[in-house]
Amino acid sequence: MARIYSDKDVSLDVLRGKRIAIIGYGSQGHAHALNLKDSGLDVVVGLKKGGKSWEKAEKDGLKVMEISEAVRSSDVVMILIPDTEQPKVYREFIEPYLKDGIALAFAHGFNVHYGQIVPPDWVDVFMVAPKGPGSLVRRMYVEGKGVPCLVAVERDYTGRAFDIALAYAKGIGGTRAGVIETTFAEETETDLFGEQVILCGGVTALIKAAFETLVEAGYQPEVAYFECLHELKLIVDLIYEQGISGMRRCVSDTAKYGDVTRGPRVIDDHVRETLWKILEEIQTGEFAREWILENMVGRPVFRALLRADEDHLIEEVGRELRAMMPWMKRE
Ligand code: NDP
Ligand code: MG
Repeated sequence: MARIYSDKDVSLDVLRGKRIAIIGYGSQGHAHALNLKDSGLDVVVGLKKGGKSWEKAEKDGLKVMEISEAVRSSDVVMILIPDTEQPKVYREFIEPYLKDGIALAFAHGFNVHYGQIVPPDWVDVFMVAPKGPGSLVRRMYVEGKGVPCLVAVERDYTGRAFDIALAYAKGIGGTRAGVIETTFAEETETDLFGEQVILCGGVTALIKAAFETLVEAGYQPEVAYFECLHELKLIVDLIYEQGISGMRRCVSDTAKYGDVTRGPRVIDDHVRETLWKILEEIQTGEFAREWILENMVGRPVFRALLRADEDHLIEEVGRELRAMMPWMKRE
């Protein structure tokens, strides 16, 4: 089991008198910048001139400057722009302005782990990855609470990288909830695995396969939609709040018996073999290479696959049914 760091274990002192540059002011960027500032630290936001975020960050009371200038005047640089944008922004606006002993920080390990960003030997490299979207990171902080974070040190040049990482996690409210140490490799590989086999890929593929089965068997698509997609939220909310056993306490015995006897037949040895294969593609860098190359050629496969799913019957039926549910957010 991992060691968990909380508020009492961590001091903000290593960050006092230092300046933190937050590069990007989107989901994570706005939350980190505002929380660190409210923790009494010196924060600047680095953005490209003319972008949408500049005005927003200024309106929120933050000091905003161009990325290169923010990097030049700071001791810690947290990169919070989309992962696919980071390598070229790093090469052009960050790397040339780094000084000896500066700390480079990330909220996800992909670019460092797969060598798309290779920081020089004379900087600290660490990660603070909140386990929630930026909106929650900000909201919890304002309420005096926090979102759990992962922290990792990839390179400890100054001998203080881990203390700086923990202090940063405290500054955004993470230690109020609890902070767990990991590595860039573990965070990156488990993050990709999770989104591929469960969170995004696994769940959507299972929803579509189950829906298609019912529709092909002659059942009405509307009824199939409710069973295979709509009701998922109720079950996931229960699992999220009470674990698998807690969810099972809330469903009927018939549902529970079907769960424990049929579930393992759906996720059978063949599926488990595929899970291992997908993990291996992540560990060997095969997935990363595929995705990096796909981006370099303008994402043709990615676009085609997304487009095909947008035309799926489940989306058509879903739009119609969701319009009948007044509590749904408008698309
Ligand atoms: P966003 O997509 O919200 O970032 C948008 C920001 O990046 C905007 O301020 C935008 O500026 C700026 N930006 C985009 N492209 C460029 C560019 N080419 N040059 C300069 N600025 C640019 O990012 P997230 O907050 O979602 O993700 C940031 C990092 O955090 C990623 O590494 C991600 O993996 C990680 N992370 C994200 C989580 C999340 O919930 N979203 C959770 C945990 C980690 P402008 O408006 O001017 O275009
Ligand atoms: Mg992810």
